[in-house]
Amino acid sequence: SLTIGIVGLPNVGKSTLFNALTKNDVLAANYPFATIEPNVGVVGVPDSRLAVLAGIFGSQRVLPATVDFVDIAGIVRGASEGEGLGNKFLANIRESDAICQVIRAFKDENVVHVDGKVSPKDDIETINTELILADLQSIEKAEPRLTKESRLQKEKVAVLAAVVEAKKILEAGDTLFSKGITKGTELGDLLHELHLLTTKPFLYVFNVDEDELTDDAFKAEQSALVAPAEAIFLNAKLEQDLSELDDEEALELLQSVGQDEPGLATLGRVGFATLGLQTYLTAGPKETRAWTIKQGATAPEAAGVIHTDFQRGFIKAEVISFADLVDCGSVAEARAKGKARMEGKDYVMQDGDVVEFRFNV
Ligand code: GDP
Repeated sequence: SLTIGIVGLPNVGKSTLFNALTKNDVLAANYPFATIEPNVGVVGVPDSRLAVLAGIFGSQRVLPATVDFVDIAGIVRGASEGEGLGNKFLANIRESDAICQVIRAFKDENVVHVDGKVSPKDDIETINTELILADLQSIEKAEPRLTKESRLQKEKVAVLAAVVEAKKILEAGDTLFSKGITKGTELGDLLHELHLLTTKPFLYVFNVDEDELTDDAFKAEQSALVAPAEAIFLNAKLEQDLSELDDEEALELLQSVGQDEPGLATLGRVGFATLGLQTYLTAGPKETRAWTIKQGATAPEAAGVIHTDFQRGFIKAEVISFADLVDCGSVAEARAKGKARMEGKDYVMQDGDVVEFRFNV
């Protein structure tokens, strides 16, 4: 499955956030090596439709989609030079499908900032510089080879041209993602063989003081720093507290700081979208569930997420849109009203499709 790597300078609240994410109290301090080995934390993707479906079907349980976050410790200035942890750090980012930067905005004199002052803009630049330098190194390594290959292999001419273009952007201090060059775009795909870091989608978590959670002007200013990447604002300590409370207490605490949902829920939703993922829904008395597919997946591919046999033996999918199902109140009524569609193997799944697959085993 796809993963999002969490990176950030030391002391910005990564471990605190990650502890909330994994809902355990494994503090990095108690495990000196825990910051070296990557850890995985799983967060649910909030979807209000699930509870509605569970109500219609009388489902015993609800299973939301999830996103995997990997805690990648060890970014420091010079990481791109491959010193010590640097290599490991870059390798871990290379394996991630998206990059989540945690940025410190909270002010606390008791927590030392590595560069002596709290400045989201500078911190973002420090991290991006390391990623950009690492990409420039990859390019410098690949360029002579591509130049040679392009003399004999026509298809390498375009790759070389893309590399030259990418190099210009990186040398100007920009990430490729910030210029719209990412997987699925023409340039992004040409660059694929170089396994660059900055073509991965980025998202930013600003670890802010509680009063900044509701400060729209502040948030707009920070968001502008990272656009087109998404920015999320949360307080890591608050998230850790929330993760230890039951639902009712958590809601009360959230409301006391003017929030509708935990920052981690927002992170789950935004992370999921950043990865280019989508869900479809299944529902029955046993469970209502959101299944994860790539945007643009066909019905058989969607069936394959449940079981490879479902894809192999795919016959058709009975699809009712969530809105139609809610309007009709039951599958039987939706069928009677002609709202249940039989879709074949070329059908492209749409967000909110409620599906039942027909297949041969
Ligand atoms: P990491 O090095 O990025 O993993 O940072 P930690 O999660 O270990 O946090 C560093 C220090 O900052 C710890 O003492 C945390 O308790 C503190 N900290 C983390 N998040 C916040 C926050 O939102 N507000 C304040 N005031 N302190 C925080």
